[in-house]
Amino acid sequence: MRIVTSIPDMHRIADAERAAGKRIGFVPTMGFLHAGHMSLLHAARARCSTVVMSIFVNPIQFGPAEDFARYPRDEARDLAMAEEHGCDIVFLPSREDMYPDGFETSVDLNRSTIPLEGESRPGHFRGVATVVAKLFNIVKPHMAVFGQKDAQQAIVIRRMTRDLNMDVEIVVAPIVREPDGLAMSSRNAYLSTEERTEALAISRSLRLAESMCAGGIRDPQRIADTVGDAIRSSGRVSVEYARLVDAETFEDAPAMAGDRPALLVVAARVGSTRLIDNTILSWKDTI
Ligand code: AMP
Repeated sequence: MRIVTSIPDMHRIADAERAAGKRIGFVPTMGFLHAGHMSLLHAARARCSTVVMSIFVNPIQFGPAEDFARYPRDEARDLAMAEEHGCDIVFLPSREDMYPDGFETSVDLNRSTIPLEGESRPGHFRGVATVVAKLFNIVKPHMAVFGQKDAQQAIVIRRMTRDLNMDVEIVVAPIVREPDGLAMSSRNAYLSTEERTEALAISRSLRLAESMCAGGIRDPQRIADTVGDAIRSSGRVSVEYARLVDAETFEDAPAMAGDRPALLVVAARVGSTRLIDNTILSWKDTI
């Protein structure tokens, strides 16, 4: 596995891979890797001959009161894990190279960044879209894999690539969970043992919504309210939002007459840790 830290080196390697007829698959991450990230590597490997993973904790996607400084980092462990899972190249840029003095260009989306995460974390998706656009220009992938765990992020990236005519295929891989249901996340490292148990209320509430849906309940507000109440009543987890939205537009899902899948998205705080999770509710299959 090659470790590349300089942007010109990454450019040269990407050009050489492309010239050799290789198909480059790319997995952008912020490190502190877990099985969710590994599933993205495997998805890239299944479709591409050269797999590149980037590890970069992107400062511009964190708000001033957010956890940039304390975001968990373990480069040695990350590199060992990436290698073990067949990654070919890890790109590890420095903050100074990514955002040198005078940096002032950003990629901004309008509608898809407004609701939910966009409201809770102003500027977050501008930071995400900007760094992903930069990484696409540096790594020159044919394909990039993102996790359904960050559902709105995946939509934002898809929209950006379409709107800016980026020649990168976007693949979205399913959420990987712990055996007890907790969605894997680097931020789970913040949770105490007690908080870790309380956090299970989030994934449990999603299963509850799935069974409501399977039982024929079609009222989005009722489902979202039940989910919010279920999380709140189970302990000290506070709900930032629990909403049923259109899986493409992230606008509130209308009463479930149509056959478009709806996405149930939840953001909640367990102690000082903010966690997100989601599930797709397919109304059509259950009618
Ligand atoms: P992060 O390092 O948190 O920025 O995540 C990097 C990529 O991994 C993003 O595309 C995430 O959506 C994806 N990811 C994070 N957690 C999971 C998970 N539990 N299952 C699948 N993908 C995930």
